[in-house]
Amino acid sequence: MEPVRLVILGRQGSGKGTQCVRLVDALGPVHISTGDMLRAAVAEGTDLGLRAKALMDAGDLVPDDVMIGIVSERLAKPDVVEHGFLLDGFPRTPAQAEALEEILGGTDSVRAVNLVVPADEATARMLDRGRDDDTEEAIRRRLDLYETSTAPLLAWFGDHGLLSVVDGLGTEDEVFERLRSAIEGVPA
Ligand code: AMP
Repeated sequence: MEPVRLVILGRQGSGKGTQCVRLVDALGPVHISTGDMLRAAVAEGTDLGLRAKALMDAGDLVPDDVMIGIVSERLAKPDVVEHGFLLDGFPRTPAQAEALEEILGGTDSVRAVNLVVPADEATARMLDRGRDDDTEEAIRRRLDLYETSTAPLLAWFGDHGLLSVVDGLGTEDEVFERLRSAIEGVPA
């Protein structure tokens, strides 16, 4: 089986985290979460971590050239070359998407899935988990920001014919089967 090359998009509260774990189990790619990589760098106090921390705390994006450098190094590692990848949190901007295309030498066999959950359902799920920063106001701001920043990215993947839209409502199993069908090109 060819290694899978996947990009997953989905707002907070879409169930993306849970489904990433299941996709990795079922399809074997390496999960590359740029948010996790940056948080690890912050925890270790590396140069990257020091640069990234203030931006992350402010909810701003880390500059494209920094992110592209990190991801291109990671994609070159033998585990990724052998098993493929599930990119989570990258690309975040059209410039990052173009860089990904360049790094991979094209977009052959890349699939992007957008896991869609309506804003009111995503809000309810976040309020349910009851984290301190999950006030209704903060949630609304994060969801709005996601919408604005992701719209051009969805257009980019759509224009390249790589995008599948997957309904994120239903049980974990139902959503997982839809994702798998979208990725494997089988109708759900
Ligand atoms: P996440 O866990 O994906 O929400 O990422 C947490 C934070 O890391 C974001 O708010 C950004 O500050 C930063 N970050 C993660 N991925 C990227 C990216 N691809 N481009 C720029 N900043 C990123």
